[in-house]
Amino acid sequence: MIKRLFIDVDDTLILYNSDSKINPYGFWNGDPFEPNFGLINAIGEYREAFPDAMIVIWSGGGRDYARAAADHLFPDNDFAYMEKGWDSFPLVRDTDIVVDDADFSLGNHSFKVYSPIEGDIVIRDEIKTKAH
Ligand SMILES: [Mg+2]
Repeated sequence: MIKRLFIDVDDTLILYNSDSKINPYGFWNGDPFEPNFGLINAIGEYREAFPDAMIVIWSGGGRDYARAAADHLFPDNDFAYMEKGWDSFPLVRDTDIVVDDADFSLGNHSFKVYSPIEGDIVIRDEIKTKAH
């Protein structure tokens, strides 16, 4: 079964150049940031390797916010967008790949959450499995 990706926006796909711990709606607010190119490129490679895979970009800031940031980072993307929260966590299968700066590994689910720094490695490891 093809693994789905669930990717967070703030402090995951985009990394803020500020000392503040959180940047709510930072993309919309124009807070300075750097794209997480390692993760962004890995997601693009995953799409090429698995054209039918479901790739979800989600955010606690809501679906529209996730889509706005993804449209900026990934021109011509074909992702799905969701609000990230307790209502959407049950959609994640245990085998899916979740990348997020927040530790929400507690709670009524058992999927693993990878950090923004290790996300590209995990995604590329999954691409390698296709060759075997
Ligand atoms: Mg975040």
